[in-house]
Amino acid sequence: MLCSRIRTAVSARLDGEGLPPGVTAGRLAAHLDACAACRQWEARARHLTEHVARLREADTTPTQGGEAPRRPRRTF
Ligand SMILES: [Zn+2]
Repeated sequence: MLCSRIRTAVSARLDGEGLPPGVTAGRLAAHLDACAACRQWEARARHLTEHVARLREADTTPTQGGEAPRRPRRTF
């Protein structure tokens, strides 16, 4: 199985989506077991996903009228 397909599947799983067609959880696990590059990629992707989730949690200040467009904060 191609690394690119595995990485697509890893990313889908991290996002809480289903695995792409043709990729089973078993195949995914077997590939990650055998492929150090994909293991590293998965670790980085997981780290990033957790980081983004923490940022979202920290940024839940109530906004009027629902979702406001996000602007970068200027600190000068
Ligand atoms: Zn791989």
